[in-house]
Amino acid sequence: MSDQNQYLLQESQVPTRWYNIAADLQSPPFPPLHPATGMPIGPDDLAPLFPMAVIQQEVSAERWIDIPQPILDIYRTYRATPLIRAHRLERALGTPAHIYYKYEGASPIGSHKINTAVAQAFYNREEGVKRITTETGAGQWGSALAYACRMFDIDLKVYMVRVSYEQKPYRKALMHLYGANVVPSPTTDTNAGRSVLAETPNSSGSLGIAISEAVEDAATRADTKYSLGSVLNHVLLHQTVIGQEAMLQMEMAGEEPDVVIGCVGGGSNFGGLAFPFMRRRLAEGATTRFVAAEPGACPTLTKGIYAYDFGDTVGLTPLVKMDTLGHSFMPPAIHAGGLRYHGMAPLISQLHREGHIEAVAHLQTSVFDAAVQFARAEGIVPAPESSHAIRSAIDEALDAKTRGEERVILFNLSGHGFLDLGAYEQYFGGELEDYEYPGELVEEALKALPRPAGAS
Ligand SMILES: *Cc1c(COP(=O)(O)O)cnc(C)c1O
Repeated sequence: MSDQNQYLLQESQVPTRWYNIAADLQSPPFPPLHPATGMPIGPDDLAPLFPMAVIQQEVSAERWIDIPQPILDIYRTYRATPLIRAHRLERALGTPAHIYYKYEGASPIGSHKINTAVAQAFYNREEGVKRITTETGAGQWGSALAYACRMFDIDLKVYMVRVSYEQKPYRKALMHLYGANVVPSPTTDTNAGRSVLAETPNSSGSLGIAISEAVEDAATRADTKYSLGSVLNHVLLHQTVIGQEAMLQMEMAGEEPDVVIGCVGGGSNFGGLAFPFMRRRLAEGATTRFVAAEPGACPTLTKGIYAYDFGDTVGLTPLVKMDTLGHSFMPPAIHAGGLRYHGMAPLISQLHREGHIEAVAHLQTSVFDAAVQFARAEGIVPAPESSHAIRSAIDEALDAKTRGEERVILFNLSGHGFLDLGAYEQYFGGELEDYEYPGELVEEALKALPRPAGAS
């Protein structure tokens, strides 16, 4: 085996198609349901929110979807991202395992979210959309979409969860830099925001509330559409450039991963890396394992239930069948802001329920332990979200050491942590707390699940 550190692709090797795993699922996905009628929705129901090209991708059963040239042109300014062998981390752990990571922090905005932002902005521009609304938690999605809207000359209004708006000024600054309008949610600009503020005047907001606001804004204006940075099928589709590149790069390294790992908020960076590899498990009987790493404070896969639920807090979005903690879930303020969503991508949820994806939950301090160990060995400062994947990768490497196995581990380093250095300072100051979301609260939240007619 070589001691090469980086596996780099040529611009010409950047994938020109997205891989749609819906074509290879063992059973058909559950359809989204209309929030009012409980009946399956059609493309027309989604038309006020999304451009038609995106809606078609959302329901497509075609295995490969061509990436339009203007999107490829932007992808090629920062893709392919490197695949790196973590030799120094392996030595620090004294493990016989081989650890590889795909580094999505190498993009202009520092995370994988740009891959779908660029695609969605393009399709909106193609259909003449002038303005997009969205929500953002910690601000990574807002900055990715702000960048993409700038590239395609579209106005953007970002409803940013208030607690992050106040605590993460630099993400807000980044969105301003790209020309976006950023407001702290809940706002008085929408019915959804006003009704939350009437009940809880000093609400610190949540992703679910911000989604309600952004959806309402888009649905009530003809020139405006809405854009979501995770969870939905088309978002995971756009992220599959990550896994396709990683497959080529693992071939260059002459290795096959035994286990593929990603952190999960809504599931997009994990799906993006995992799905191209998962295809071989579904279609060719490969035995590759897949591990989704989530926070113990927001344990959607490990403690949630598989049921139809709303995507937002107020109940405006279609009902989707997914692993959920209940749409009324109020996440505690952990530093991995991008992982604090009550639901999980339907595609990830289904593959989890069918036994193709294992899920693990990590507590915050053990995640930062792993992040610091990684940064000190590899030199890259990981985002707190990505560090959940690092925790799992290190645990796998230590388990391989105990068993004396040469396990090949591949994980997604979904973003860098330069704008999260405050959280590292808190960690070193001993100020980070561990919080495990209690089972009783999950049961409480699940009582509020919608019971659509005809849904099981
Ligand atoms: C948003 C974000 C995540 C979580 O979102 P997914 O859709 O689950 O990928 C993970 N890592 C980083 C760096 C993020 O910005």
